[in-house]
Amino acid sequence: MLIVMKAGATDGQVEAVVRVIEELGYRAHAMPGASRTAIGITGNQGAVDPSHFENLPGVAEAVRVSKPYKLVTLDLRAEKTVVAVGDAAIGGDELAIIAGPCAIESRTQAFTVAEAIRRSGAKFFRGGAFKPRTSPYAFQGLGEDGLKILEEIRETFGLKIVTEALDEAGVDLVERYADVIQIGARSMQNFTLLRRVGKSRLPVLLKRGLSATLDEWLLAAEYIMSEGNYQVVLCERGIRTFAQHTRNTLDLSAVPAVRRISHLPVIVDPSHGTGKNFMVTPLARAGVAVGADGLIIEVHDQPDRALCDGAQALTLDQYEQLVAEVRAIHEVITPAAVT
Ligand code: PEP
Ligand code: MN
Repeated sequence: MLIVMKAGATDGQVEAVVRVIEELGYRAHAMPGASRTAIGITGNQGAVDPSHFENLPGVAEAVRVSKPYKLVTLDLRAEKTVVAVGDAAIGGDELAIIAGPCAIESRTQAFTVAEAIRRSGAKFFRGGAFKPRTSPYAFQGLGEDGLKILEEIRETFGLKIVTEALDEAGVDLVERYADVIQIGARSMQNFTLLRRVGKSRLPVLLKRGLSATLDEWLLAAEYIMSEGNYQVVLCERGIRTFAQHTRNTLDLSAVPAVRRISHLPVIVDPSHGTGKNFMVTPLARAGVAVGADGLIIEVHDQPDRALCDGAQALTLDQYEQLVAEVRAIHEVITPAAVT
């Protein structure tokens, strides 16, 4: 059930509806929009009786939701969500660029890359301190020491930090040092982790699972939002197919498909989406052309020495070139953003 308020409804009228929802034992999610506020209801097992709401002052209509998700949908919020991260944003007019190494390996490596990211004008720095590796013997990340390096990068360069949490204890740590919590593809259906980040004050970058359908991915976002955290960014990072010419198949059709259903911003990861250095820039261009709100790109000062994902890492020069190209495309497809 979704309660749509009239355009002129007062804050008091919205609060009164929220109170009725809570008295029924449900949770209310008020989403103010440009022209009206809608209030999502979660926590109900069966159908909610619309007559509880229909005659309350300020209510335009009580709408039954037939889709499996409620809070991610355009029915709840017709305008796109802009996820604000301090003075930076994902989902606004500006193309969001998140770049950095797969893993934080050392202070020198991280600072060398961060300097180039800062120079490019990107606002977000990525780098894993906790790495979800296929082999238990592969480099697992520097842990909290890596987070401390990321914190120093934030202080030195003013970049916003995006980094992955693998488990709930990791979220506690990431919250202390970073600006955006990344939930990796392998964790997309770790429901206790999703609920935990749903209680966080930090925005969440939610990668699509390796074999997740659109509905499964959106329901993962719904888990986070149902706990009260509405700052979710979806990230298409490639899925498993029979293709052998790439590490994953970057499903760019997911971008307009998500757009049709959800108000959440969606970004593209051409690094994991291809796994190959020479494919990253072409697919980054395509991601922007198809309407992504941003890109997440792996960059390394010495890709041949990288401890993780070196084959897909761009050199600093390649990255600089990529940024110039994708910005040019973004300006063409969103003329309103050109100043
Ligand atoms: C990463 O961003 O380095 C990463 C591990 O991504 P994914 O979860 O998409 O594999
Ligand atoms: Mn990686």
